[in-house]
Amino acid sequence: MTNDSLLARARTLDAEDPLASCRALFEGHDDDAIAAYLDGNSLGRPLRATTEHLPEFVRKQWGGRLIRGWDEEWLQLPQRIGDRIGRVVLGAADGECVVADSTSVLLYKVIRAALAARPGRTGIVIERDNFPTDRFIVEGIAADRGLAVHWVEAAYDAGPTPEEVAGALGPDTAVVVLSHVAYRSAHIADMEAITRLVHEAGALIVWDLSHSVGSVPVRLDACGADFAVGCSYKYLNGGPGAPAWAYVARRHLADLVQPIQGWLGSADPFGMGSSYQPADGIRRMISGTPPILGMLALQDMLDLIEGVGIEAVRAKSVKLTSFAIEAVDELMGPAGVNVASPRDAAQRGSHITIDHESFRTVLPGLWKDGVIPDFRNPDGLRLGLSPLSTSFEETLIGIRAIADRLPAKVLD
Ligand SMILES: *Cc1c(COP(=O)(O)O)cnc(C)c1O
Repeated sequence: MTNDSLLARARTLDAEDPLASCRALFEGHDDDAIAAYLDGNSLGRPLRATTEHLPEFVRKQWGGRLIRGWDEEWLQLPQRIGDRIGRVVLGAADGECVVADSTSVLLYKVIRAALAARPGRTGIVIERDNFPTDRFIVEGIAADRGLAVHWVEAAYDAGPTPEEVAGALGPDTAVVVLSHVAYRSAHIADMEAITRLVHEAGALIVWDLSHSVGSVPVRLDACGADFAVGCSYKYLNGGPGAPAWAYVARRHLADLVQPIQGWLGSADPFGMGSSYQPADGIRRMISGTPPILGMLALQDMLDLIEGVGIEAVRAKSVKLTSFAIEAVDELMGPAGVNVASPRDAAQRGSHITIDHESFRTVLPGLWKDGVIPDFRNPDGLRLGLSPLSTSFEETLIGIRAIADRLPAKVLD
């Protein structure tokens, strides 16, 4: 297919896209200085609704209600928004999700909670290529508690398979920590099969859903998952540093012990009691004062996703990444650019990584020209296609700009 027919195809796909009109709901979609935003998987664009809601909150809620706001609404927000995330995108029942902290801190808390639920077991299983913070948190906990880390080795352009996970499990395994969608390859792990294997080994699973939540539907309750965490600034468009969320399966709540016992996760915060008694339910995952300002924006994205339905978001995501692979093969395949993501759409999340030795050096020029993917070691450009804010034509503009910057010698 030629360059021109790719453009015609992108325009046809946009014309046929039932979610095409959503793009205009985002700030910056019509900004000429942003030719192609291909990093919505790392920081989602703000919704225009958010541009109105944030100052309104400062004026009316913070400015008008002052400290009364805590009793009137804010203290309940972590659970109320948690329930919505659970219902709209996670397949979780009310009372199983809460918004708090960062993903890293929540990982620490849920891994420690999982270990506490498996006393006597001494091993943590994690994938070698999991996101750095997941590995670093696990290494820290293992060193602190004298536990062994067992590494799952997965293929570079894929992610952990049930067989590979099974190979790392043993009678000492307490906890398994895996990403559902791999941060570099976008490979989707088989949550149901892996969760079953982990349970057969008598262990518990912690799923990191940072690259799934809001783009790839998950069914945490139906899969029997134990714990999960994820970001809200990626496909939930919560904004830079928006707090994360945690999921704890209902069956674990009654005995849940987490390591950062703070007053706002205690049974009677304003009783100012002499010792810690945990709150009932998911609330005990909270430690300190909830970051209310940080959790405002993601509610606007939840409104939008709930309106269109997460299955429609996924359908568009599959079409976007499939088109992106087609365009990369066409425009850059001959120059030796390699797609380092699954080619089977059913096994792929909402980004693709493409590899070429020149990519580290082309990134600054791309950013300067408003073409914004990101770079991931060793030599990958990651193209994140946030389904509600990214068009097919925008995707093609970005891929063409990358192709145009490949060193001339490799194009000969
Ligand atoms: C983005 C990401 C994180 C980020 O953690 P923070 O504590 O929010 O910085 C963690 N895990 C995975 C898999 C991610 O993709």
